[in-house]
Amino acid sequence: MMFRFAILPLLLAINFSMCQKRPSAEQSAASATPSPGAQTSPGGSLALAASPSKIVKPVVDQTAQTLIFCYHRLVDKVRYPGTEITPAAFEAEMKELKDHGITVIPMQDLLAWKRGEKNIPPRCAVITFDDGWKSQYEVAWPIMKKFGYPFTLFLYCEGIAGGSLGGGQAITWEQLADMRDNGIDIEAHSATHQDLREGHSIMVIEPGGKRTRKKLTGAEYEQWLQNEVVGCKQLLEQRLGIKVNCFAVPFGNYNEHVKEVARNAGYEAMFTVYGQPITFNSPLDSIGRYAIEANKPKVFEDAVKMIGAPASGGAPVAEVGAKDLSTQPADGETVRTALPLIKANLSGIGQIDPGSVQMRVSGLGVIPASYDPKTGMVSYQVTQKLHEKTCTVIVGAKSQGKKVEAHWTFGVEEPVVTAPAAKPTPTPKK
Ligand SMILES: [Zn+2]
Repeated sequence: MMFRFAILPLLLAINFSMCQKRPSAEQSAASATPSPGAQTSPGGSLALAASPSKIVKPVVDQTAQTLIFCYHRLVDKVRYPGTEITPAAFEAEMKELKDHGITVIPMQDLLAWKRGEKNIPPRCAVITFDDGWKSQYEVAWPIMKKFGYPFTLFLYCEGIAGGSLGGGQAITWEQLADMRDNGIDIEAHSATHQDLREGHSIMVIEPGGKRTRKKLTGAEYEQWLQNEVVGCKQLLEQRLGIKVNCFAVPFGNYNEHVKEVARNAGYEAMFTVYGQPITFNSPLDSIGRYAIEANKPKVFEDAVKMIGAPASGGAPVAEVGAKDLSTQPADGETVRTALPLIKANLSGIGQIDPGSVQMRVSGLGVIPASYDPKTGMVSYQVTQKLHEKTCTVIVGAKSQGKKVEAHWTFGVEEPVVTAPAAKPTPTPKK
């Protein structure tokens, strides 16, 4: 609901022009050729595995977490606190991410990590801007440059300057081209920014510019929805020569049918406004973002608290390299069993409170590892087969009142038994 304010200033402040600049050919969206790499397997994951050559995926840290923030307009005097923020407050938040050890990564890195293709730091943020305001180019971008942060824009096509909803404060195609040339990620946010569910009252802009409120159903609705979800992607791709693979749902309002249309259009990920830390297992068709409002700074603070390290007074969680713990399996190693023995030697860390030692394994959670204070060895024999191809271990302990933590990740590849006479591999005794 809060996003109503996003469009309201546009609707109110803009002199609706009569122009309809969209070529009507845009409407026939059905015959779009899928872009390479966007083909999906029945499971929904990228069809990389189908390639004949062997692709070795890097081992990714499955315990990493990402906060996705959604901003709108940057203005010196906030009149619509639901969608506006001052440049100073925005800059302070960007700095806070840095101070809390949160790395701002490109959206495409987050998606590559979800595909298991690229690693990301343990604590990340993705910054997004919605609705295509000029201040995103003029004010936000220079601030982001200062920090060296990447970001994503979610645009609704008719809200871009020259579109039927794009007024004087709208971003222009020229500005978008400039941002594109400088590596800014540009993604879709529908055509006219309305509730995409069937049967909701929407504003229809007829050829000639006449506006009427209508409840669309049946074929008429489907045609409209196609333009909102697919037409918007095609227009951005054609005008800017880019690949669009993300869709931010207006107001976060959608349903299974809208999701299906978006999936079929080749979108890899869909975004809402229900903020939560994104994990390796977060479903890609409903990725929550924290919508940051000028009058609710707590939303940002709480999000950072969810994953960030405290800003000052020295980080109480000291990261220890997995190598220093002589871990088994080693970081980056691939083991040939789904029932590995996991070990780490904590003796190098110093005095350890024996009761504080804890081991977490991705897919299992906290496991009953045994710790031997004499040798400093913490170990766990996995008893239930690990299902994922990569496994992350986090070992934490308290040392002289401070929390110490080590993360490492190994690959799991069970040998394929080809012949009955195959030599039995030594497996841990049960
Ligand atoms: Zn929006």
